[in-house]
Amino acid sequence: MASSRVSRGSDKTLVYGLGESGEAAARALAERGYPVLAADSADTGAARDVAARLEGLGVETRPGAGAEALDEVLGGVWRVVTSPGVPPRDPVLTEAERRGLPVVSEVALGLELLGKDVRVAAVTGTNGKTTVADMARAILEASGIPHVVAGNSWSALTGRLEEIRRAGNLVLEASSFQLHYLPEPGFGAAALLNVRPDHMNWHSSFEEYTQDKLRVFDGQGAWDLAVLNAHDPVCIEAAEDLPAEKILVGAGGADGTRVGGGGLYLRGERILEVEELGFAGRHNHENALAAAALAGSLGADAEGIRGGLSGYRMKAHRMQVVGERGGVLYVDDSKATNPAAVAAALSGLERPVVLLLGGSEKHTDFSEAASYLSGCRAVVCYGEAGGRIADSLAEAASGYGVGLGRAAGLAEAVSEAESRSRAGDVVLLSPGCASFDEFAGYAERGEAFARLCCADTPRASGVAIGREPG
Ligand code: ADP
Repeated sequence: MASSRVSRGSDKTLVYGLGESGEAAARALAERGYPVLAADSADTGAARDVAARLEGLGVETRPGAGAEALDEVLGGVWRVVTSPGVPPRDPVLTEAERRGLPVVSEVALGLELLGKDVRVAAVTGTNGKTTVADMARAILEASGIPHVVAGNSWSALTGRLEEIRRAGNLVLEASSFQLHYLPEPGFGAAALLNVRPDHMNWHSSFEEYTQDKLRVFDGQGAWDLAVLNAHDPVCIEAAEDLPAEKILVGAGGADGTRVGGGGLYLRGERILEVEELGFAGRHNHENALAAAALAGSLGADAEGIRGGLSGYRMKAHRMQVVGERGGVLYVDDSKATNPAAVAAALSGLERPVVLLLGGSEKHTDFSEAASYLSGCRAVVCYGEAGGRIADSLAEAASGYGVGLGRAAGLAEAVSEAESRSRAGDVVLLSPGCASFDEFAGYAERGEAFARLCCADTPRASGVAIGREPG
């Protein structure tokens, strides 16, 4: 049953953003009989397709309604439901806030419509959200616990409400964009994996980004669970003030949740051997522990955790070996869209690396990746951000004796990397940037990489590479 907060008389809800989550939100409201206007500043083919489908449901729509149409989109509106792609400085959102209208994310609407009867385990962080949500899914599946995974890189929450209600358990992947407009969620279990500079084209500052990430713990009480990482400075500081039960992944102690002595420990109990896992890297083993803690909050026991994690394989485009030629391994880590993910990738490799960095510009600082370049033979920077990244890494590269190449696009970068690599090396696409200057997304970029470097070699798809944590 929808809560009364979802409507206010005959006033409309403005669903702003005609993408996947906007469509799901408008549909969820319309199906429950609430008046909705669905609008977008863009007037693209995709936005018009969404508008046409919504009009079929009787929803009023307005694609192409930006700064010049403020009265048209905000007149008679009591609240705005916004999509993750719309930045807070968008003129419609700014004007809505100026008029005192509440602005909430699609996820906030979904949680409101679900009510309190569903148990939620939420995960956020700069890197590892999808992996942790997927590992939790694997554990819950192995445990036979009904559940739905939704949010961010999964399907929109408001599109899965009935399924979630039936399952009773939700694993929610929440981005900073979704948390920005999510007041007091009060999650039964919430994990913050790490906070590193990213998405500075959306957030006004790193402080704002950090505050949005920390909202994942807002509204929690002593009976709830907060999962954080012991190596992350933001997590360490935040942990001090949280009222919930805390698990600091990576912290020592008899009841610690950590990797050590070849095993994974959850609250002090050795639940798995590292050698049972089909994935490598300390960050991934700690991801597994965060997933175990979250799934545990939804009822998974040690047996289910072992069953889910021991058979687990990384999702595509995350440190995936996609081919081998002339003794050189080609590894697709296209999902690494910020410098911290690049650092994690480099710290997990023992062979000399020829690293491909670049893509669309997010103005992120690459100094975190610079300190991991010592294991590289060369770095090839390409794409819109390539020139700036190459300039910022020049000093570190020359200090480590690492070659620095520049290339126009991914195809040229792969040729350059091939000519710089030797047998025994890894050519690693861990670009540290979004892909939109050349591709529709990270998956398309990873597929292009696999075709470019390995068209004439068998693909070793699904194989993960890396060394065990020290
Ligand atoms: P997200 O959903 O947060 O973008 P993913 O699980 O898709 O995260 O992984 C994105 C990238 O970050 C991949 O390149 C992956 O190897 C890397 N990564 C995953 N977990 C971590 C972690 N805990 N710390 C740093 N990097 C990570």
